[in-house]
Amino acid sequence: MEVEDFRAIDFHVHPFPHVSPDELLRAMDEADVERAVLVGLDIDPADVDIRRVRERIEMTLLNLTMGLVFVQFDELRKEAYDVMPSFRTENEHVAKLVNLWPGRFVGFGSVDVCKGERYIEKTIVKIKKLGLKGVKVLPTAQFFSPALDRDLVERLFSLCEKENLAVVYHTGCDVGAFELPHLSESANPILLNGVLDNHSNLKIILSHFGSYSAKYPKIWFKECIEIMKKYDNTYADTAAVPYLLEDEKAVAKIRTEVGFERVLFGSDYPAVILVTIKDEKDIIEKTRLLTAEEKELVLYENADKLLRSL
Ligand SMILES: [Zn+2]
Repeated sequence: MEVEDFRAIDFHVHPFPHVSPDELLRAMDEADVERAVLVGLDIDPADVDIRRVRERIEMTLLNLTMGLVFVQFDELRKEAYDVMPSFRTENEHVAKLVNLWPGRFVGFGSVDVCKGERYIEKTIVKIKKLGLKGVKVLPTAQFFSPALDRDLVERLFSLCEKENLAVVYHTGCDVGAFELPHLSESANPILLNGVLDNHSNLKIILSHFGSYSAKYPKIWFKECIEIMKKYDNTYADTAAVPYLLEDEKAVAKIRTEVGFERVLFGSDYPAVILVTIKDEKDIIEKTRLLTAEEKELVLYENADKLLRSL
């Protein structure tokens, strides 16, 4: 079968500090990706020692013992301290790369939501000053929940709405020891139900379609569709879950319930070990389940239109 090569915008790339920009550009060129959204990652292992955060984690772990799952807080704490520092990506670093390759990169910053309202306000001002176009947040690695920290999340959304910054919002499980669905429950997109009522001008991208999980793929896909159906200012990206577009049931559900105008191609490169941007794009190019028009929307046009509005 002849496979058509589509131009593309990758909406989800991580310029981790240990990855050279040449490597990113090479991966983009190999996949015929015109531009990539680079996302910052404001994460800090010391967050687990914030009393409120620690108490919540300990409560979750205690509940897990009823299901005979035993995880110690100290194990998680150690993992946070071992892993997070090498993936932390400064907003200034993202801005620097965008300034060097403005035709290839679009920059999104990040704000560690659990650090509180004052910190969110200060960081959004900086992100705006750096000329970045959006903000990446993760309920998992930034230890917040739209249900328990509604004020913080509302504040963040209001500021982003006012400053016209898009929000890339992690949904699905996290990695490593934090993969346990109970520990990632805060990243279930259904928790945004109601929270988005007052933010109809916010542009929010539900990363990973609610589906990311090594153990339970598609874990909150249904919930993600529910939210997209209710709020038409929501988008979803395919980062690390391109298989959704090869899944007959998932494709039919997207097509009939929300359409493909709000689906964005993202690769999560280089977060998924041994998976390139080309690997992820190939899956979408080759799937028999999408029309050529739908592929064009997902790979390029939706992202182009959204970026033009920022
Ligand atoms: Zn990511």
